[in-house]
Amino acid sequence: MRLLVRTSQVNLMPKILLVEDNEMNRDMLSRRLIKRGFEIVMAVDGRQGLEMARQESPDLILMDMSLPEMDGWETTRQLRSDERIRSIPVIALTAHAMAGDREKAMQAGCNDYDTKPIEFPRLLEKIDILINGKAQA
Ligand code: MN
Repeated sequence: MRLLVRTSQVNLMPKILLVEDNEMNRDMLSRRLIKRGFEIVMAVDGRQGLEMARQESPDLILMDMSLPEMDGWETTRQLRSDERIRSIPVIALTAHAMAGDREKAMQAGCNDYDTKPIEFPRLLEKIDILINGKAQA
């Protein structure tokens, strides 16, 4: 019985879907997020990302934009056209701070945007705002 109680408490941790094809980035970021108490599920390309979003109903998605199979832009557009998963917040992650990328991310349906290399405290703040609705940090 105790175990059941604990299990339900564990499920209260916010769940983040990390869609990232680069294994090193995936490992590093997932470990840091797990340390902060998040439950992490992962996908390695856009198609799998969409599947995982439907299966796992995460509280938030961290979406690398440069992905095999289907890139992050298209994955986010498809996510936004599926009513079961369209309301999940998405933070776009891109490797280069290209002019116009932020706008492009917002147009694709992302809620926020960040650039690599990841500055973890800054990313955590963005995650926190989208999950907990904090106005400012
Ligand atoms: Mn990538």
